[in-house]
Amino acid sequence: MDKLYDLVIIGSGPAGMAAAIYAERALLKTVVLEKTGVSGGQIINSLELDNYPGLPGISGYEWGVNVRAHAEKTGARFVTDEVTEILDLGERKEVVGKKERYLTKAVFVATGANARLLGVPGERELTGKGVSYCATCDGAFFKNQTVAVVGGGDIALDDALYLARICKKVWLIHRRDALRGVRILQEKVFNTPNIEILWDSTVSRVNGTDEVTSIDIRNVKTAETTTLSVQGLFLAVGMIPNTDGIAGLPALDAAGYIQAGEDCVTEIPGIFAGGDVRVKKLRQVSTAVADGANAVTSVSEYLLTLS
Ligand code: FAD
Repeated sequence: MDKLYDLVIIGSGPAGMAAAIYAERALLKTVVLEKTGVSGGQIINSLELDNYPGLPGISGYEWGVNVRAHAEKTGARFVTDEVTEILDLGERKEVVGKKERYLTKAVFVATGANARLLGVPGERELTGKGVSYCATCDGAFFKNQTVAVVGGGDIALDDALYLARICKKVWLIHRRDALRGVRILQEKVFNTPNIEILWDSTVSRVNGTDEVTSIDIRNVKTAETTTLSVQGLFLAVGMIPNTDGIAGLPALDAAGYIQAGEDCVTEIPGIFAGGDVRVKKLRQVSTAVADGANAVTSVSEYLLTLS
């Protein structure tokens, strides 16, 4: 650990890689640590990244490969290592990986998040073939079709309302007899004619071979099972931020997201956070990339304050 970095970036998803490009152009001594060895983050699981401006229809995997090549062309260095701890030594931070330790002046945490799975048969096999965890990303593929949304919180209600403008019919499936989302969203859902709520219900199986054709619904009060014909299934049962396995992070909110604003500044001087792992409204590639750019601006300003 003889080398001193200006910036250690944790995670090579959209936020981490955008930050790497900006950091290289700002001539910061930088390293990107990625636990999987593959760059792109969650988006590599998407068959089509169709809402990123300028690249209609590109696959998530291809986008990840392209951005990694772009970052490497600017001089960015990627190392496969999983970070388990950040030690705050004042004007220096020590980033502890499973393989190595990295001494740095600043850290950008861009470890992302993962959608919570339902864990039912057919879910994994049909992900990207009708099963989706992101209405904003995939809703447009289901124009005039029938879809179901699972969940009862704000995100599920937002998703149902968004999809109701695109799809012929939206089933909202909720395991309880009352929604959890804010009142104003509930009212909107109740007043949208093409949204129908199935109360006290869970999805027990996703059916289809090459694409989703139907889902099995179980009523939790009667145990009765019915089959609902749908082309799309949107799961909005929560996200899990990747903050669990890293000690020494700045303050988290109740759901485990790092508290940082658009400038990616956290409560600990020298530790910045952005992308899906920070508290924010919309978790998308474009907003993650924006965070990467903003973070490096904040890092550059911070470095000027050091002795
Ligand atoms: P992530 O993409 O989650 O990347 C985080 C990276 O950090 C990962 O590579 C991870 O391995 C690494 N990491 C985590 N912990 C550690 C650690 N301890 N040490 C080292 N590395 C670590 N958005 C769109 O805009 N349009 C779409 O069409 C779209 N489709 C999607 C489809 C799917 C199936 C999914 C799952 C998401 C989709 N999204 C889409 C959302 C988008 O992918 C995310 O908003 C975006 O990837 C967030 O970027 P990020 O860099 O913040 O985090």
